[in-house]
Amino acid sequence: MKKFVLNESRLPRAWYNVAADLPGGLAPVLHPGTLQPIGPSDLAPLFPMAIIEQEVSTERFVTIPDEVRDALRLFRPTPLVRAERLERYLDTPAHIYFKNESVSPAGSHKTNTAIPQAWYNRREGIRKLVTETGAGQWGSALSFAGQLFGLEVEIYMVAVSYLQKPYRRSLMRAWGGEVHSSPSNRTASGRAVRAEHPDSPGSLGIAISEAVERAASDPLAHYALGSVLNHVCLHQTVIGIEAREQMAEAGEYPDVVIGCVGGGSNFAGLAFPFVPDKLEGRPVRLMAVEPASCPTLTKGVYAYDYGDIARLTPVVKMFTLGHDFVPPAIHAGGLRYHGDSPLVSRLVHDGIAEARAIPQNACFEAAVTFARTEGILPAPESSHAIRAAIDEALEAKAEGKPRVILFNLSGHGHFDLSAYDDYLDGKLQDAEYPAEAVAAATLRLPRVDGGVPPA
Ligand SMILES: *Cc1c(COP(=O)(O)O)cnc(C)c1O
Repeated sequence: MKKFVLNESRLPRAWYNVAADLPGGLAPVLHPGTLQPIGPSDLAPLFPMAIIEQEVSTERFVTIPDEVRDALRLFRPTPLVRAERLERYLDTPAHIYFKNESVSPAGSHKTNTAIPQAWYNRREGIRKLVTETGAGQWGSALSFAGQLFGLEVEIYMVAVSYLQKPYRRSLMRAWGGEVHSSPSNRTASGRAVRAEHPDSPGSLGIAISEAVERAASDPLAHYALGSVLNHVCLHQTVIGIEAREQMAEAGEYPDVVIGCVGGGSNFAGLAFPFVPDKLEGRPVRLMAVEPASCPTLTKGVYAYDYGDIARLTPVVKMFTLGHDFVPPAIHAGGLRYHGDSPLVSRLVHDGIAEARAIPQNACFEAAVTFARTEGILPAPESSHAIRAAIDEALEAKAEGKPRVILFNLSGHGHFDLSAYDDYLDGKLQDAEYPAEAVAAATLRLPRVDGGVPPA
């Protein structure tokens, strides 16, 4: 069979919370001013109570509200697809499967968390959500979800993407979102960056500062984040819960589960539901793939850091390149955040998951191979997972042994065509890992237990 499609009734009824299975739980979240552990009330100006409870929950399963399930039915369950044509092209004994999250309205997995976030905020009386977006996928997913539940959505979009991806702006506006290029003149944090760097390309860290500042100043507004946080990873686990069932229908179990990593949520969504198997001794490998130019998991430090440049967000323990790290602007492929999900970081730190970094030209090459065999033009982000999946399949071929590979196709690339033009015209450079910039940025980590600069 080519596609494994679950009936709507098998859309999961609960999300899986990996925090329940982590020995010793997660390191506490700290207040950005005092560096002391924070409580739920510290987060209340930004998030609804239900989301705060999910952020700190250690329950293994969290029920998905009926209205949220009903909205997810617009595109879920998503298909699991066997990449037979890619296998044949590679002439590999490996079996390659991918979970196709590109079928959501916004074209990526981000809709899986945008919908519950919008619903919980609306239920607690919020009228407006303020957020940041990098390449625009999160801004479009949230604009769509806001529309479903009658919320206004205001978006700070990283300046370089605002210019490079004009059609994602159009998509956000079509769904009713209000989009601003970041750094903007609308916030104190934006104005501060512009005063120092008038031509700043922006960064997620800067855009987060702007969005948090706006949300905190309006009692009827909240902030929403599309990745990194525990509740976002939780919402994404519908991907892996479905995929486990679909793999069983295919009569297979993966040797390796692969996802690209920006903040970690689509990898978390696919991989976390396989963690209990792994902890019980099943030899499944969980592989997180990141860009070589923003190598958080492979070259960052595991330490407490801020989530944004203005140090407005809580301080969490994660792999980080330093909160004022600005990735090279020549990088075309998204995945540019300085930090990573504390849950994903912890799994990598504990050796439960592994991490790889890949330069962008190798990823685009894999993306084009995938498009020419399986037909779907992947998001540049997803191409990191595809590259790793192809490398696994080629390794199996070299060994002459079968291997079952499962990767997450986190989104399609229909709004990333200028990046494809650059690749096809031979204009993409492999941005060097900026070792000196990272070393400098990690000197400015907050001084709490793990905040030791690298040697
Ligand atoms: C946002 C995005 C990513 C990266 O974010 P994660 O939270 O790491 O998943 C990857 N792929 C696509 C298509 C995205 O939109």
